[in-house]
Amino acid sequence: MYREQFGAWGAISLNYLTRSDDKINMLEIRPTCENCNKDLPYDSKEAMICTFECTYCKACVDLLQHVCPNCGGGFEKRPIRPTPLLKKYPVSTTIVHNPVAIKAHLQKLKSK
Ligand SMILES: [Zn+2]
Ligand SMILES: [Zn+2]
Repeated sequence: MYREQFGAWGAISLNYLTRSDDKINMLEIRPTCENCNKDLPYDSKEAMICTFECTYCKACVDLLQHVCPNCGGGFEKRPIRPTPLLKKYPVSTTIVHNPVAIKAHLQKLKSK
C-alpha cells in the first residue's frame, strides 16, 4: 500500500520535471520569517504559511496566536519541496520583512 502511494508520487514529480510549460503555480517558499527575519530554509520544520503565503516561524505564529496579521487567516506548516524539484523550481530568495505590531495585533484579535 505504502509502496503504491510512493509510486504514484514518483509519477507526479516526473510529470512536473518533464512539463514544458513553466506555468505551474507554486509556492514561493520565502527564505525568512516575515516578523523576526529568522532564516527559514526550504526544508525548515519551523516554517508556517497562511493561504497567501505570508511566512512566519513557529515561535512568531504562536506569538500571533495563529492568526495572520496581514490577512486574518490561519497558518499551516509549510510543505517541504522535494529536493529533485529544487533545481527547476527554486525557492524564493526575496526577503519579506514586515515586523508585526504584536500588541495592536492581539488587541485586534480581542475586539473581534
Ligand atoms: Zn519569526
Ligand atoms: Zn496572510
